[in-house]
Amino acid sequence: MLREPTLTDQSKSPPPLLARADYHVHTAWCGHATGTPREYVDAAVAAGLGEIGFAVHVPVTIPIKEKINLNREQFALYLDEAPRLRDEYAGRIAVRIAGEFDYIPGQEAEIEEFATAFPYDYLLGAVHFLGNWNVDNPRSVNRWETADVAAVYRRYYELLAEAARSGTFDIVSHFDLVKKFGYRPDEDVTDAETAAADAVAEAGMTVEINTAGWRKPVGEQYPSAKILRLLRERNIPLCLGSDAHAPDQVGHRFDEAAALARSLGWTALAHYRRRERTLAPV
Ligand code: ZN
Ligand code: FE
Ligand code: FE
Ligand code: ZN
Repeated sequence: MLREPTLTDQSKSPPPLLARADYHVHTAWCGHATGTPREYVDAAVAAGLGEIGFAVHVPVTIPIKEKINLNREQFALYLDEAPRLRDEYAGRIAVRIAGEFDYIPGQEAEIEEFATAFPYDYLLGAVHFLGNWNVDNPRSVNRWETADVAAVYRRYYELLAEAARSGTFDIVSHFDLVKKFGYRPDEDVTDAETAAADAVAEAGMTVEINTAGWRKPVGEQYPSAKILRLLRERNIPLCLGSDAHAPDQVGHRFDEAAALARSLGWTALAHYRRRERTLAPV
């Protein structure tokens, strides 16, 4: 027989797992972002967030010389320091420990090594490289001028689907990052987007609404409303990420992102702890 809840019971129950979470922030741990980890956590507290997840660029070997990902020493330092920060802030904000992993075919062993190096809260999987081209890098933006844009989009989504099928990651980073500089295919690539959405659904992954797109030339969140509808049809959960590379970007335009999710039919967002997903109201 079900017991009637009493006021006393309710007062004893834990606070609702409400709170808005920013699951994609970088920090000075990633050489190219500014602000100490503590400044990001303080910014999240000030913004009224209930959770913040560090998503440092994991030291997977990338095909360009530029320093984007942490090196192994920096990564070890991160895994050593982040738990201390998490414990220090316990009760004020939930600090999640995660990583943004490049999916690069041929690097599976290295990816696996880093993926199993720590009891992460979640792993973000991302495609930034097509062969040796870092498609979201402003330094190589000129390559878009001579590229077969539709072919690039198709290859990008193929890799994203492969990343999902690898089964390694929990959350898709910036699903349509390939649009960052505003180069759009002159033919329909819905088939490629759909195949990627199918692979993500099949893998049981979450997709982030990444608000950094609003700060980039494309001027649109990742993923587009069109792709979000494909995700909704497949019942794929969402979470929110700012991709902050400075503390004042934490929680950037989250009210709009949440409103967008709601307007397209999501009533809940995904939260992770130790790679277990729960859903809480948007
Ligand atoms: Zn970065
Ligand atoms: Fe990224
Ligand atoms: Fe990022
Ligand atoms: Zn990112």
